Amino acid sequence: MNRLILVSNRLPFALERAGTDEWIVTLSAGGLVSALAPVLRGRGGTWIGWPGVAGDIPNAPFAEATRDAGYEVVPVALSEAERDEFYYGYSNEVIWPLFHDLQNFCHFEPTFWETYKAVNERYAEAIARHCQPGDFIWAHDYHLMYVAQALRERGVHAALTFFLHIPFPPFDIFAKLPQQQRLLRALLQFDLLGFQTRRDLRNFLQCVRRVLPDAEVLPSSGLQRIRSSGRTIRAGSFPIGIDFESFEKGAASEEVARRARELRAAFPGCQLMLGVDRLDYSKGIPERLRAFRVALERHQELRGRVVLIQAVVPSRVEIPRYHEFKGRIDRLVGDTNGRFSTDTWLPVHYRFRSLDRDDLLAHYRACEIALVTPLKDGMNLVAKEYCACCVEKNDGVLILSQFAGAAEQLKPAVLVNPYDVEQVADAIFKVFRMSDAERRARMKRMRRIVHHEDVFWWVDSFLKAGSQLAARSAQTASRRRVKQR
Ligand code: UDP
Repeated sequence: MNRLILVSNRLPFALERAGTDEWIVTLSAGGLVSALAPVLRGRGGTWIGWPGVAGDIPNAPFAEATRDAGYEVVPVALSEAERDEFYYGYSNEVIWPLFHDLQNFCHFEPTFWETYKAVNERYAEAIARHCQPGDFIWAHDYHLMYVAQALRERGVHAALTFFLHIPFPPFDIFAKLPQQQRLLRALLQFDLLGFQTRRDLRNFLQCVRRVLPDAEVLPSSGLQRIRSSGRTIRAGSFPIGIDFESFEKGAASEEVARRARELRAAFPGCQLMLGVDRLDYSKGIPERLRAFRVALERHQELRGRVVLIQAVVPSRVEIPRYHEFKGRIDRLVGDTNGRFSTDTWLPVHYRFRSLDRDDLLAHYRACEIALVTPLKDGMNLVAKEYCACCVEKNDGVLILSQFAGAAEQLKPAVLVNPYDVEQVADAIFKVFRMSDAERRARMKRMRRIVHHEDVFWWVDSFLKAGSQLAARSAQTASRRRVKQR
């Protein structure tokens, strides 16, 4: 088995300054980490990334805190200016909005691209320093789309693989990107490219055909193949999953059951509808609030009988657009509550903070309806987590945006166009009156899918697709060494 080198913008370990010379290192416990850490420990390997603090990294405290990880942890340092132009700038003010089809939100500042390349080169240097012949190198997400190009320029011939966690846009939108050719050529320096959905893969292939006439998309079943500059690049869709069993078990725990009971008891006679999102304009929060307002206007029966609990997790507030966007949400919540609340009922309960894990699970477990209506989303894990946590009567109902990656797998959800507030309003009314039997039938099918196609299945499918490449590249590397001798 080849050693694994994982590369992502953020490391699973976050570094924080606690005093002049004091540092705290915390392990983040997301699904990706729980799926990948055992693989890294099993095969041996390295995780390379940024620990989340700008400036120099205090090597001794960081090495001490990560010593028992079971794999090597290599931090990449970013200055404040680099963080601003690479992370906030190119990654989150160019690629993020564009790849979510929101080109009007893009800030196409040429210097952002230069810093993006420079930082990708820094990551490439760290990879080149730590990789050995035959290693399986797996880079993650939109921050690192240039890293393979930078590695090839450094003479690294190893098999390079990449997974994009966000959507890939259709050509008409991608074509707005000033660096469209350079970025696609850089992506084609990987040997395997993974996307969340078949739609993202189709969009990517369409962009290759339109932007790079010298590249050829070969007819293939299964993994797609692209010929470019004498190399064959493979591309496929690998929808990411969640750690189903850990969510299901957590939701079934005594503590979560108690919190869920308390939550329900706070809203007697009401169906609870849940929205959980990071503060992000791609999540469709204002559109959802407007849809709920339309539902209350159109359907009197909902008044006093439905409550929307909307949790918004603060995110990227350093970017002005995110700050303005929060103001919009605050006003819509205020407007809806101002118009419809009574002495005994408030339609929207709004939390602007992150929830601790048990609290999040209790919300999933307690709410009869989940409203997951992003304008566009790579996958949307909240939709899957909600299904995993429907442990009581299996009768939760999911209203899901057709533009979330999850919609390709979760067909039994009530699928909506999040831009169509009247349709979403009608969907809210429809699910409010949906029979228990129908709710259960739909949820049962969704739980089966989310359970089967979990995060471990995702890691296995990607590694399996990449393993042949890694084996081939190891053979080439050993031939190269023999020749050199
Ligand atoms: N989440 C969290 N704290 C919260 C609310 C949500 O950690 O208070 C997690 C949630 O469990 C999920 C992730 O944040 O795993 C959100 O993932 P998703 O794919 O839905 O959207 P993203 O934020 O990655 O765009």
